[in-house]
Amino acid sequence: MDRRSLIKHAGIAGVLAAGAAPAVHAQAAIRWRLASSFPKALDTIYGAAEVFAKGVKDMSGGKLEISVHPGGELMPAFGVVDGVQQGTVECAHTAPYYFHGKDETFAIGTAIPFGLNSRQLTAWFYDGNGMKLMREFYKEYNIVNFPGGNTGAQMGGWYRKEIKSKDDIKGLKMRIGGFAGRVLTMMGGVPQNIPGGEIYQALEKGTIDATEWVGPYDDEKLGFQKVAKNYYYPGWWEGGAQLDFYINQKAFDALTPELKAIVESAASYAHTEMQARYDARNPAALKRLVAGGAKVLPFPKDVMDEAFKHSMALYDELNTKNPKWKKVYEDYSSFRKDQNLWFRFTEAQFDRYMQSAKL
Ligand code: CA
Repeated sequence: MDRRSLIKHAGIAGVLAAGAAPAVHAQAAIRWRLASSFPKALDTIYGAAEVFAKGVKDMSGGKLEISVHPGGELMPAFGVVDGVQQGTVECAHTAPYYFHGKDETFAIGTAIPFGLNSRQLTAWFYDGNGMKLMREFYKEYNIVNFPGGNTGAQMGGWYRKEIKSKDDIKGLKMRIGGFAGRVLTMMGGVPQNIPGGEIYQALEKGTIDATEWVGPYDDEKLGFQKVAKNYYYPGWWEGGAQLDFYINQKAFDALTPELKAIVESAASYAHTEMQARYDARNPAALKRLVAGGAKVLPFPKDVMDEAFKHSMALYDELNTKNPKWKKVYEDYSSFRKDQNLWFRFTEAQFDRYMQSAKL
């Protein structure tokens, strides 16, 4: 090594040594708070936010740390859109359809009656126009969204009496989540908005005739089978209910490209992991429910057809009334058409064969 390069190397070492102390300060951890819309008891859904936060912390070597807070701790469960929009918290984990009252377009981000299933919705978001269109929509709320889990097709809920035809829906008082209540109303039903913790008592007393929740794994914990044993399928209003991570635009923009990639990656893992948990845990829960007296029944065809007819009429109406909805729904509905054209062949055929085979 000649003299000049020795000086050069010493110089670099000197700069590095001098820079070391301030560099450590510059890299102090960024701390975010995540407001979940869910209680810890919904461990699969709430858990997706914990998986996300852990992934971000581990991959960033602690440069970005996210604390996860259950619904109600930092703000009301349904206050998280306002919270992220105003920057009260940097991020949230929620089901967009809770906010259909602000704008119906939110519902497309979770599930709409007779919408895409879990696989198809992920395909629309990751490889179709879903992410682009929903991000355009979320701009006015200062939100950058990332898919954050899916429950898969939900069950149709618990009914005190059997549903024999569409006439049995008339006057039916049913606890049902958000947007789907509009279709239930069109069918003559009476949707009820009851917090999770109060549903069991209302069903037991007969204040309501029916309730839907999620699927076997979550439903079992609430014990509905003891008071309304008729357990119907499918939950035509939630063929694949997706959760979202909402991140405040400014907080996201302030991240380095490396941390942005880490956030995206951790969200994507949490998204996959939540569906996996439901798929892995639902079968055993369903067996236990049946052993405990649940009667598992399909909705009659005329109930499905009636619900389908009214859902499509609602979408036609929204297309004329809400231009934001129309822009997103047009793309969503043509994607849905093609997905069902494809899935009916090999996917559905393979599944049907396997489900009827003696294993
Ligand atoms: Ca549900």
